[in-house]
Formats: sequence, C-alpha cells, structure tokens
Amino acid sequence: MAADIGNRLDTQVQVKRVDRHWIKPKLDLRKLIDIDMDVGKLIDVDVEGARNAGNSNRTDGAQRPANISRNRAIARTGNIVTSRDGYAHASPFGLQTPIMPPSGGPVNSLLRGSFFGYYFKLKPSAAMRPRILLANPRGFCAGVEMAVESLDLALERFGAPVYVYHFIVHNRIIVEGFERRGAVFTNELARIPKGAHVLFSAHGVSPEIRTASQELNLRVVDATCPLVTKVHREVREFARQGYTTLLIGHAGHDEVVGILGEADGIVLIENVNQAERVRVPDAEKVAYTTQTTLSLDDCNAIIKTLRVRFPKLRGPLADDICYATQNRQRAVQALARMADAALIIGSRNSSNTMRLVEIAEAAGIPAYRIDVPDEINPEWFRRTRTLLLTSGASAPEVLVKDTIARLKTELGATCEEQPGKRELVHFPLPQGLGPP
Ligand code: SF4
Repeated sequence: MAADIGNRLDTQVQVKRVDRHWIKPKLDLRKLIDIDMDVGKLIDVDVEGARNAGNSNRTDGAQRPANISRNRAIARTGNIVTSRDGYAHASPFGLQTPIMPPSGGPVNSLLRGSFFGYYFKLKPSAAMRPRILLANPRGFCAGVEMAVESLDLALERFGAPVYVYHFIVHNRIIVEGFERRGAVFTNELARIPKGAHVLFSAHGVSPEIRTASQELNLRVVDATCPLVTKVHREVREFARQGYTTLLIGHAGHDEVVGILGEADGIVLIENVNQAERVRVPDAEKVAYTTQTTLSLDDCNAIIKTLRVRFPKLRGPLADDICYATQNRQRAVQALARMADAALIIGSRNSSNTMRLVEIAEAAGIPAYRIDVPDEINPEWFRRTRTLLLTSGASAPEVLVKDTIARLKTELGATCEEQPGKRELVHFPLPQGLGPP
C-alpha cells in the first residue's frame, strides 16, 4: 500500500452520468490507492437511485454484484472506475459490470465508498447537483445595519469597553465578533460602571431603563430601531387616550419587554387562543400593536380574532410588522413553492429568522437553520434538487457567501440569485455618533 494513500484518496472525480455501455476506464482507483485488489474484496458503494443496479446491461454475462438494493449497492468488486468522459462504473468482476441508475439515466447522488476503511468520494452528476435559489431580499435590515454600525463606531470613538444593554442584534456571530473587540453585553444595568458608555440595542428599552441609566450617569447611545420606537410611541398614545393595548408578540423577547414597560395595563397576546380569552376593562376601548418581527399570517389570524371580539378595535395607522420582516417572509413564501428544502441562516434567538423557518415548513418543505456554514450536514440535502437559501435580518452577508461556497464544494451546488423587492430604507446613526 502506498504511503501517501490518504492524500490521493482526497481526489474527487467528476461523474457526469452512468451509461449502459461499457466505456474504457480512465481512472482506476486500484492505481490511485495502490492496492492489489482481489475479486471478492468488499467495496461498499452507496448509490442512491440505483434501484436496478444489478439488472443492467452486463456486457459479459457475469454474475450480478451481491446485495444490490434500491439505495445501496454492495458489490464484491475489484474496482470503482470512471471513464475518460466522466462515466462511472462499479465493476465487481474485472471492470465489466456497470452499476446502473433505474432508467439508465444519470446517477443522481454522490458515490461514496471505502477501500479497507479509506474513504473516497465521487462528485455528483450535473443532474444531481442542488440548485440554490438565493432569496431576495435577505439578511441585514436597515435597523440592524444602523445598530451594528453604531457599535462599531462607538468602539472606535470611545474605546473598549463599550457596554451594550442586551445583545446588539440577535446574531451569535456578530455578538462574538464585537465581544472580541471589547463590547460587553449585559442585561443588568447594575453591572455597568457609573459614567461608562452604554449602547441600547436595536430592540429598544423600557422607560424604566432609560431613567435608571440617567441615574447611573451612563453615557447612552440609543441604537433602537426607529420602527421599534414607533411601536413604543403608539402604545404610549393609546394609554394616554385610555385604551387597553393588546400587544401581539412573544413573551421574553427584548423588544416586547421594552414595549410592555411603556404603560400600565398592556396585555401580551401570543396566540389565537389567548386572543379568544383575553379580558379587558372596557371592550369599547381596546387597541392592538405588534412586535415588529412576527409572522404575517400568525399575526393576521390573531387580529382577526380580536376584531370579532372587539368590533371597535383600534390598530396602528401603518403596519407594525416592519418592511424587512414582511419582505423576507414573502420571498420565502414565493420560493418555497419551487424548492424541496430550505436553509435559513440566522440565530435561534432571532425572531425573524425563526419565522422564516416556520414559513418554509408551513409550505411543506424541510427547513434547516444554521448560525454558520460549518453546521451544514450535507446529508440534509442528498435528495434536494432545489434549495431555498436565505438569511434573517440580523445575519451578515458574509455567512451567506460562505454557505454557498460550502454547498458548492460539498454538493457541487449551483446558485441562482432570485429577483426580489428592492429595499431603500436607511436609518441615520444615533445622536452622539452621527456627523457633527
Ligand atoms: S427587523 Fe425591522 S424593526 Fe427590527 S431592527 Fe430590522 S428594520 Fe428594525
């Protein structure tokens, strides 16, 4: 056995299709790994779709390989070879019996196998490579862009440490990157030394936190997204007019915690069931607002229920679910019809990311969420022909690029950027960071 066997086994061989006819082999793995293979040694070849693998046109009338089943061909063989033009054959007896796909068409999976525990891999045929539909719009929204830029500038201008009340945005990679630069994320104002710089995250804070920050003499940079601030304003206005506000959102989310702190008597509604049962002091004076990152469909179902119960229900003048959330959700809804799996980049604590996962699943396709491309398991997509790829509003574009690169390397995927709604929203930097 050759000493450099491991390196040579990394060789990847392009497999374009399997043909019924014998073609003179170009590549003989016996030579690659320098093993004197005897007929009768086991080679384990995973050939998806090779339903009738053993029934194909044998050119020499030799016996069929042993143990051939729909998805797996275990051939007692001496060789796995490819021909000059990329045709693939497994040859149990002297390079003469090709493993065949069901209809003589292209092999539609990776071929993987091992010689004596050494691994080799043949790239999938062109017909098998997943086609990525890259959603648009995706990734950073204007609020996240502004918040990230604010912290970046704050660190540059004030130096480390800069304290951040809550995570700046709900993305692990961004948070870890800023931590390395000296940002300190905390949910407790008491941990922040008096007089220090503190940044409020895109999700906003309650008035109580603002007051406490003043008392601690903290130097505040407020990076709350203006669309979250809009919901705070609405809630205050409804309270001023004597309305009970029903806030549709998810308990414990930073944004919801901040809004609930704006007035007494705000009631959180998380689902239709709660909307059906909620009690209010005056059914004539009920209003609703919503968290900015909800699922449009779920939210509409709740509002519909509330309208039946409270015919005079008041709502915001313009939708609270923000433009970025809506656009990303609509893109996923449209593309999910054409895809047979979805891959969503974003963190588990990102509300808008998790809504994208749910929307893809509701469309009937499996949806996988990753923080980073390393988390991709190629097995997820072995049967995938068309893959929807998108990212939540707090996931940076570099992760999308790295994910595509990985899918290309691992699965031979191709990528097609899809058209989508153009977003021109931009928020100015907060006071204290913008131009003088
Ligand atoms: S998702 Fe919407 S509300 Fe949230 S930060 Fe982005 S633009 Fe603002």
